[in-house]
Amino acid sequence: MPVSQPLLTPRPSQTKIVATVGPASGDPSQLAELLHAGVDVFRVNMAHGDRGEHQARLASIRQVSADVGRPVAVLADLAGPKIRLGELPDGQLMCDADDRVRFVADAALAAGEQPAPGVLTTTYEPLVAELAVSDRVMLADGTVSLVVEELGEGYAQCRVVQPGLIRSRQGVNLPGVKLRVPALGPADLDNAVWAAQNGVDFVGLSFVRSADEVRQLKTLLQSHNSDARVIAKIEKPEALDRLNEIIEAADGLMVARGDLGVEIDIARVAMVQKEIVAACNRFRKPVIIATQMLDSMQHSRLPTRAEVTDVANAILDGADACMLSGETAVGQYPRQAVEMMHRIALATESLCGGQKAIPLPDLTIEGINQITEATVYAAGQMAEELGARLVVVASASGATALSMAKNRHLVPTLGVSDSAATLQRMCLYWGVIPLPGAPTGDPRALLRYVTDWGRAAGLLASADRIVLVAGTGLAVTAHNMVVVHELE
Ligand code: PEP
Repeated sequence: MPVSQPLLTPRPSQTKIVATVGPASGDPSQLAELLHAGVDVFRVNMAHGDRGEHQARLASIRQVSADVGRPVAVLADLAGPKIRLGELPDGQLMCDADDRVRFVADAALAAGEQPAPGVLTTTYEPLVAELAVSDRVMLADGTVSLVVEELGEGYAQCRVVQPGLIRSRQGVNLPGVKLRVPALGPADLDNAVWAAQNGVDFVGLSFVRSADEVRQLKTLLQSHNSDARVIAKIEKPEALDRLNEIIEAADGLMVARGDLGVEIDIARVAMVQKEIVAACNRFRKPVIIATQMLDSMQHSRLPTRAEVTDVANAILDGADACMLSGETAVGQYPRQAVEMMHRIALATESLCGGQKAIPLPDLTIEGINQITEATVYAAGQMAEELGARLVVVASASGATALSMAKNRHLVPTLGVSDSAATLQRMCLYWGVIPLPGAPTGDPRALLRYVTDWGRAAGLLASADRIVLVAGTGLAVTAHNMVVVHELE
């Protein structure tokens, strides 16, 4: 069997990089550039663009991945119940302190009628009926805040508390207001079915409030024969109240700091991030840190010191992946932003050798496979103590590779599988390098293939050791075996 090209240029960081695709990065040549710079997962934000655009981007990503010979995962991020302002006269409105503005239902306006100055509509028709006096309404990413002071027939009147400029279609956040809006609206359902039918690897569920919402999306995906994994985006206080249930139901989490920082006190974001990361690591689920990681690189070739420190601290917290949003979607320097994130990851990982942020596996947690956890833990220890140059994990579903990732041992780890979808999923798993083309069914052939690949990649030489973790094939119920191999 021919050995595929070495996949280690540039040397991959153990922390995975998620890059949002947008006008600055959607062309095949731009996608290839980002892949070469270190991207592991491309995020398609369903809140922007139409079906044709999403389809074209997905096709380009798959094509570029095949051309480069490196698996890459696609995360389709559903917009969820994000409420947005309707059109404003002149497209914007300056809200001065103590001004009064009124929310009305769109239906209260005559067809085609523009709202009068100071009259606001939203994409959520029942909003006016669900607001109560004293509720807070945040606009323009939380920079403008209102308080509801009067409710009347078909309107909610608010006073401007924090002044600022608002624009048409900006997001509306209602911290602490429990809305009845469903987690998956008609557009989300349609996009989720599209993601299922088009082999997307991960689907992001925005504004999650309960584990039931996660299960609803999983059921929908499965009913369309998709094994796409669901990433629950944590951005509401309700989700923090039910964090463990949501982590158990989901396949991974995203700390969506943009909306989270509006929905809760922005001063709490750093500590909440640490709590979410620690909880995900206890449950052995991947976790992505998102939003404003290298924000200034939308317009600058260099990030701020604070941004560099933010990325490094996310890695030290134990995050599996860091995400770029505007930096790669609409920024002026998308490639440089990926290169910078990659450089920070390498620098941080090399300096924190041995400092393990991840606790030992808690074998009592529901859903954790005790045999897999114990085996990969022991394999990681053996690899470190024997000075192995490579760990190889053969994984059908990716579960063993994820457990290996969560152990955070420091030996480079290859993930092999006979499933292309599993190899793509491994792109989100910390420290796991998915290697396509390996013969997984026969341990001898697999070791030969990996040895040839490792020599070609300059990673292996005579007398080097490899630790292989694989299924036994001996019995249906037996799980894993560990083989230590020394090269001739
Ligand atoms: C966020 O709010 O941080 C986030 C990632 O979500 P979105 O980009 O969908 O607003």
